[in-house]
Amino acid sequence: MNLKDRLIRIQSALPPAVRLIAVSKTQPLEAIQDAYHSGQRLFGENKPQELVAKAGQLPADIQWHLIGHLQTNKVKMVLPYVSMIHSMDSDRLLIQIDKEAARIGKRIDCLLQFHIATEETKFGLNLPEAEELLQSEAYSALHNIRICGVMGMASFSDDSELVLSEFLELKDIFLQLKQKFFSENENFKELSMGMSGDYLLAIQAGSTLVRVGSAIFGSRF
Ligand SMILES: *Cc1c(COP(=O)(O)O)cnc(C)c1O
Repeated sequence: MNLKDRLIRIQSALPPAVRLIAVSKTQPLEAIQDAYHSGQRLFGENKPQELVAKAGQLPADIQWHLIGHLQTNKVKMVLPYVSMIHSMDSDRLLIQIDKEAARIGKRIDCLLQFHIATEETKFGLNLPEAEELLQSEAYSALHNIRICGVMGMASFSDDSELVLSEFLELKDIFLQLKQKFFSENENFKELSMGMSGDYLLAIQAGSTLVRVGSAIFGSRF
């Protein structure tokens, strides 16, 4: 199967409420152009430098999602090119993004990243940390950030019960935050979860944004 067929097969398996982010990290421009010409407009990158370099060379109607960790010193570089940041996980980052977004006159959509996997190494908040952040004075002073939901990565595991339970945990976190902080806010609606190996489970648990790389592009270089 070629890229276009893989893309269409995945697209057609998604319920209408779920959007596909084609994760193009490490993939060459030609592969992204192929996906673009098959109608794909949402792309995800995990490194700010790579996102900026690619965005500069590809059509302007691509929406770039930053799905990897963002250091505060990279905010300025990436912000003009990015339409959503999935990896918000500290008040320092929130403040830096808001400041830079205000400077360039942009409103930026962000997701709070949660740590739901059993692995130690992944970034992300837990629920008490997120609540503390959302109750902070620093947060209430921000004007150029729109928090649109949550993001998480499940354990890298063949145990589908474990993976599903982690996605359901993220869904539960989403619902708790929605009720407590965003009940009047219709922008807070996204659950970014699910990758090539587990996006069908993520959809079962209520995902609205799946981030799929290798199942579209083949394995990474
Ligand atoms: C690489 C990556 C993906 C996509 O991974 P695949 O297994 O290739 O689908 C999704 N989310 C994040 C955060 C990633 O870094």
